[in-house]
Amino acid sequence: MTEVTIQIFSGNFLDKAVQYEAVEKRLIFLLSRIPVSKVIMGWAADRELYQKTAEFLAKRNIDFYLWFPVFSETGALEDLSPLVDIREKRLESRSNEEFSFCCPNQKNVKKILSVFEREFSSVYFDGIFLDRIRYPSFANRYGHAGVLSCFCRECRDFYKRKNFNIENIKAALSVPESDIFAVTGYLGNGKYTYSNTALQVLLRLKAEIIHKSMEQICSFFRERNYGIGFDVFAPYLAPFTGQDLLSLSGLCDFIKPMMYRATNAPAGLPFETDALLRQTGIMASPSMMEQKQNFNKMMHINQIETKSETSKPEKNSFNLSFAARELKCFCAVSACPVYAGIEINRVKKFAETDPAYIEETINAYAKTGIRGLALSWNLLEMPKDNIEKTAEMIANLNL
Ligand SMILES: [Zn+2]
Repeated sequence: MTEVTIQIFSGNFLDKAVQYEAVEKRLIFLLSRIPVSKVIMGWAADRELYQKTAEFLAKRNIDFYLWFPVFSETGALEDLSPLVDIREKRLESRSNEEFSFCCPNQKNVKKILSVFEREFSSVYFDGIFLDRIRYPSFANRYGHAGVLSCFCRECRDFYKRKNFNIENIKAALSVPESDIFAVTGYLGNGKYTYSNTALQVLLRLKAEIIHKSMEQICSFFRERNYGIGFDVFAPYLAPFTGQDLLSLSGLCDFIKPMMYRATNAPAGLPFETDALLRQTGIMASPSMMEQKQNFNKMMHINQIETKSETSKPEKNSFNLSFAARELKCFCAVSACPVYAGIEINRVKKFAETDPAYIEETINAYAKTGIRGLALSWNLLEMPKDNIEKTAEMIANLNL
């Protein structure tokens, strides 16, 4: 049995939320064509919008989940302690900055849960969809300083308890910076071999910190009988952000890797991969073209194969076979159902999707062992031709 989930972006915390009438109109159009089991909406703070949407969905027997960014942007509503880099410099951000991150420590967790309590707990939701359960990626404005964080007091104490000497990271950084991220191979499911063991340990401990904080957050929502979904990076990008997908899949009811092949924005595969190559010595080479060739070789990506598969290869959507392989490997080990995140919305310059892109992507992802599709990331920006094509695909695949 396969499920379809849809995401609606209602605005950032401090934004004026979208109008309920606009949401209802789009939902009616979509639901007349696609059988949807869950609607995820967030995160502008507007109780009335969610209340009305909850009533609309309850009548149709569709579960309603709040989309909530955990370690990013919650700083707009609470005073959270920032990430700290190895030189003990605070990685501060402006309160309303998109994709600004705080330290995922236990003190912040309590404050973040208080944001939920204050702003959203009075609305009836069936579940919570937790996004940004991570540290910044290479694509973030802090670059590798964000990927190497955090070294705040609480994090340093944790490393000490785990017998991790942060001087080993400092020593690695004293040689040319690009060397610290050198990767020697990829074993699948987010597992790399690193030439620097200190980095390997740091990334593992960061994943432990995220896991520990998510355990606490999940028990808070379990006590309230909420269903829990996680929004996560693609497996090969996840370890650099503190996400161990296998361990996280043991905490939630469904997990959604963002397999956005046409998105040139955070979490998008082309965008994050370019940043990974640019920011690291992962494939030390002076030219981006050579780096990409080296990366493709390590990941066993066959570019010629891409050309014959992709309807419009000049549109530069990310390699389809590799994305499907990543999903398939993860589905084989995940402790909970996997929903493939695919972008159905169309945003000029950032996500130039079309029906052909949707057709080839759903066709390939449907064969990977996924339980469902998460139609991302905003219903309000999904053009009718994309919705019609998605409906046709879902009907044909008998999802
Ligand atoms: Zn910290």
